[in-house]
Amino acid sequence: MTATTSSVCSVLLPEDQQSQARSFLRLLDSLLNQLPKVCPYCDCTAFKVKQKRHCLCSACGKSFNALTGTPLNRLQGRERFLPFVEGWLTGEPAHLVAERLGMDGTTGRIWVKRFLLLMEQTHPELYRWWSAYLYRQEVALPAHIQERAQRFLDWLARFPFEPSSACPHCGSSALIAHGYGNGLPRWRCKACGRMHNRLSDTPLKWLGQMELWRPYVELMLQGFTHQDCVLLLGIAESKGTNRDRNWRPRFLKLIGQQDPVLLEWVIWQNRRRRGQLASEHQDNMRRRRSALLQGPDSACADDHTPDAQ
Ligand SMILES: [Zn+2]
Ligand SMILES: [Zn+2]
Repeated sequence: MTATTSSVCSVLLPEDQQSQARSFLRLLDSLLNQLPKVCPYCDCTAFKVKQKRHCLCSACGKSFNALTGTPLNRLQGRERFLPFVEGWLTGEPAHLVAERLGMDGTTGRIWVKRFLLLMEQTHPELYRWWSAYLYRQEVALPAHIQERAQRFLDWLARFPFEPSSACPHCGSSALIAHGYGNGLPRWRCKACGRMHNRLSDTPLKWLGQMELWRPYVELMLQGFTHQDCVLLLGIAESKGTNRDRNWRPRFLKLIGQQDPVLLEWVIWQNRRRRGQLASEHQDNMRRRRSALLQGPDSACADDHTPDAQ
C-alpha cells in the first residue's frame, strides 16, 4: 500500500466513501500481492504454488492466480493497477491517467470498465457513488456549450410567437395577423391568400407537444436517443400531428441551422450514449453467460452452505 492512498481519495470523495475507497485499494493491493486462499474452481484449499503466484489445484488440477474469477482476470500490466486506480479515484480523467502512465486511451477505457465491475461486486456503495459521479462528469456541459445551449433554448421558446416578416409560400411581406391556431399566432398573406405561422417553414412544422421541446433538447444535449426521450418524457408517438414520429432529425436540422457547434456536441454525446448502450448490452450478456456457466449454486454460495456429505 502506498503512502498516497489515504490522501488522494480525500480530494473528491465524500467522507463516508473515503474509507470505502481505501478498502477498495487495499483489496486491489491484496489481489496483486497475496496468494489466493481457495481454488476458484472447486473451493479446495490444497494447491501448489508455482512461479509468479500461479497456483495448481491438487483437487481439480486447474491452474489459477488471485485474479482468476475476478473482473481483472487476464488484464495485462498489473504493476500499473494501483497507480491507475489511485489517480482515477482522485477525479483525474481516466484517459489522462492512462497517458501519464504510458498507456493508450483504449486500454484506459477497458481498465475503467473492469475496475468498475470489480467495485460493483466488492464495494457496491462506493460503486453507486462513483459511477453516478462519472456519469455526471460525462454529461456535464462545458461552459461554452452551456452558453450556446441556453441561447438556443431561449430562442426556441421565443421564436414561434414572434411576428412573421414574410410569407413562406410566396415570400411576400404583406401580411395580416389572423388570430391563433394550435396556440400560435397565425398570419394571412395578402398576396397569395394562404395562412402560416412561424413554424411553417421550419423543421418543427406540425410537431405538436410544444411543452416537451425544451426537455427534449436538454436530453439531446446529454446524448439521449429519441427512444430514451420517448420513455423519459412520454412523447405521444401516435398523435396525428406527429407525422414523422421521430423528433430527432427535425431538432438536429433546427440546431444545425442555428448553431453548428452545438450540433457537433449533440452528435458527439449521442455517440457516447450509443457506446454506453452497447456496452451495457455486452455486460448483461457477460453476466448471463457467467451465470449459465457457473450454474444455479454459485449465485447463493454465500448464504447457503450445502450439507456436509
Ligand atoms: Zn480446484
Ligand atoms: Zn404568400
